Amino acid sequence: MDKKDLVAPCGMYCGICDKYLAYSHKLPKKRGKVCYCKGCRPQNKNCSFIKKKCETGKIYEIDFCFECNIFPCGILKKGSIKYKDRYHYDFVEKLSQIKNNGTDWFIKEQENLFKCSKCGDTICVHNQKCYSCNKEEIIG
Ligand SMILES: [Zn+2]
Repeated sequence: MDKKDLVAPCGMYCGICDKYLAYSHKLPKKRGKVCYCKGCRPQNKNCSFIKKKCETGKIYEIDFCFECNIFPCGILKKGSIKYKDRYHYDFVEKLSQIKNNGTDWFIKEQENLFKCSKCGDTICVHNQKCYSCNKEEIIG
């Protein structure tokens, strides 16, 4: 899979998401619980976070939210603040980084940022856990 598919339109890097890590590490599916995802783009070919709430409807035409003329819109800002508080991940800031430095740079940056100091795999943004060695680390 192209890693670029793991960068969602909202600036989320799906490679650090608990549902993606469960999928990529082939964790057993829990019954009745959605805990398995291939990533926002591969899954919906779009965005699970903004989708129908998108004020301009441009979410279906653009690659990233920063391409929109009202970026950052209210929905994105609201979600961004919530995520920043809870997971130290700021969509608006991340989108600006993608806009300024490109997707390839951004992916490398997230991989470094969320790298497990014990085994070099990925620390999950949602639960601060490494799915390979179970080390817990706070990022951000
Ligand atoms: Zn690890």
